Amino acid sequence: MQIIINILWVVAAFWAMEFVAWFAHKYVMHTFAWELHVDHHQPTGKFFQKNDWFALIFAIPSWLNMMFGVMNGFDFRFYIGLGILFYGIAYVTVHEVIIHNRWGNRDKIKHWYFQGLARAHFAHHKHKEKEDGECFGMLIVPLNFFKRPVNSDQ
Ligand SMILES: [Zn+2]
Ligand SMILES: [Zn+2]
Ligand SMILES: [Zn+2]
Repeated sequence: MQIIINILWVVAAFWAMEFVAWFAHKYVMHTFAWELHVDHHQPTGKFFQKNDWFALIFAIPSWLNMMFGVMNGFDFRFYIGLGILFYGIAYVTVHEVIIHNRWGNRDKIKHWYFQGLARAHFAHHKHKEKEDGECFGMLIVPLNFFKRPVNSDQ
């Protein structure tokens, strides 16, 4: 039954990361690290944003957990690192590809879940300054964003 426990570590780490990401977005990126996040709210037109550094920063705990896990015979840390990695992939896919259409290859979003996420995130982007933000989460957003008609865009 070790495999079940391993899967639970992955799932737990994945959803814990949604909380970590929300917390970091609200209390780190919109406060003392605003300098690195500002060009995500006030686009410069350049392909890479300073905000992209956060993707690399969040790769560090994933890599460290996986490395220490491997060094200890693939213990629970490996699966925590894997969960963080999966969250990173999901975050980049949802935020950069599906919501911001960063590479111009987004199919029209029809699924109610992704439409809700996009509405919530665009509400976040209405705020150009670091103060008075809303909707700092990515995969878990307030329920009211899911309630509007399925085919309206925002
Ligand atoms: Zn923000
Ligand atoms: Zn965004
Ligand atoms: Zn944002």
